[in-house]
Amino acid sequence: MLRRAAAAICALACVFAVSACGADDADGKVRIGIKFDQPGLGFKKNGTYVGFDVDVAKYIAKKLGYSEDQIVWKEAPSKQREAMLQNGDVDFIVATYSITDERKKVVSFAGPYFVAGQDLLVRKDETSIKGPEDLNGKRLCSVTGSTSAVTVKEKFANEVQLMEQPGYAECATALFSGIVDAVTTDDIILAGLASASRGRLRVVGKPFTQEYYGVGIKKGDTQLATKINNAIADMIQDGSWKRAIADNTKGTSYTPNAKYNPPEPTEGEK
Ligand code: GLU
Repeated sequence: MLRRAAAAICALACVFAVSACGADDADGKVRIGIKFDQPGLGFKKNGTYVGFDVDVAKYIAKKLGYSEDQIVWKEAPSKQREAMLQNGDVDFIVATYSITDERKKVVSFAGPYFVAGQDLLVRKDETSIKGPEDLNGKRLCSVTGSTSAVTVKEKFANEVQLMEQPGYAECATALFSGIVDAVTTDDIILAGLASASRGRLRVVGKPFTQEYYGVGIKKGDTQLATKINNAIADMIQDGSWKRAIADNTKGTSYTPNAKYNPPEPTEGEK
């Protein structure tokens, strides 16, 4: 009787051991953090994932030796990215993730693979906001943990009212309903939201920062940074980068700033 109980406990322990193994690299999977709610970049659509960041992530995964069915996609909201890398929840993050000195204190980056610029999204009939100089007295929405929110607090703290939300889709909803006058974040993200709004929202088109998109990795993993940089360089070289941008910005009036794009991946190699 006792022996049987011991065997049962052991079997149970084994099951748990196996499932614990399944959560790490031993199962041959690569876990990639992306956005799920940013059309054109990282977007979950009927159980599939589409967008420029998704294409970049798939290209990198392939170069690292993973097939598409070995990818486990994880949602990486702006505020949670550093913690997800630090905890080992993901192997890398491709999620409109700007390379900053502040973030580099706790994570590392490969890339950049794209350069965007912070801009404004307004309702189509808005006439009083033509650029960042018109924000006095306006109500803005941005996302917690984003560089966009930080920039507003640094540059426009005295003149605007900032509402922070967990994601840009929530900000777009606040803009539709008139709770805010504008949404602010990277132009390429806003272009996707404007396109999804079917003409009800538009991008102002006066970018006022440069956002260098990096691939977030665990702090100090220079080997992975080099491999990812090589993959990005290949993606640019073989035409896949250009195609991915074209495919994912189709139907928007967005074109990447040619002064900065495509960039040269140099991060994380020192
Ligand atoms: N690129 C900016 C950032 O990394 C804004 C976009 C985002 O929140 O993902 O914070």
